[in-house]
Amino acid sequence: MKKKLELLEELQVIDQLIDLKKTEQAILSTDIDELQKVVSEMQSSLSEQQSQMADLRKEKSDLEVALHAEQENIRRSETNMKEIKTNKEYQAVGKEIAAARKQVSDIEEQLLLLITRMDELNAEMDKMQEELASSELTSSASVAEKQSLIEEFQQSIDSSLANRELLVKGLGNNLVRRYNQLREQRRGQALAEVRDGSCLGCNMNLPPQLYNNLFKYDEMYFCPHCQRILMLKQGTEEG
Ligand SMILES: [Zn+2]
Repeated sequence: MKKKLELLEELQVIDQLIDLKKTEQAILSTDIDELQKVVSEMQSSLSEQQSQMADLRKEKSDLEVALHAEQENIRRSETNMKEIKTNKEYQAVGKEIAAARKQVSDIEEQLLLLITRMDELNAEMDKMQEELASSELTSSASVAEKQSLIEEFQQSIDSSLANRELLVKGLGNNLVRRYNQLREQRRGQALAEVRDGSCLGCNMNLPPQLYNNLFKYDEMYFCPHCQRILMLKQGTEEG
């Protein structure tokens, strides 16, 4: 029985190591997700700016077409004016020209605003592109580093699992099943050390008879409070 308890203890050390490595892997994965999220948010900001720029370009080209049309109107009216006979007609065409000139100056003003906005947006995009490039660089280095750590942990987990399999073979199915159940129920700890008559799994005192029985190593004993498998620690290991 003592031998089996020792094997179980060894199994628990391995299992807790595996748990630890898995937790570390999960943390690294979350970190990687966050790093990639930052970069992808910057990418989507940039592409939003690019689509804004496309809209502004379209607006600009529409305004230029309108400007050109108004200028054509003015030229045509000016040509017509030369053939006008009556004062009334002359005044009417004059009004048309004045209205068209007003249109031209409005459009030119809008164009100026638009070009200013485009310049600003261009500057914003340059800045975002620079930030994105540097962020991608740092992020990809950090992601690669974290990924290689995850792989390292995986190798360690795999070799622990191989050791675990050997141990499990020596312990028998029933015992391992019981141990696995306890681990699930007791936050990863199926075995509890006993020191000075107390279970260190739950820090409760054990009944004296049970405590005495532990020294016999005749069978497996369980803590009446937390149900963990009890494992006597004595001699040099006793604090
Ligand atoms: Zn206990």
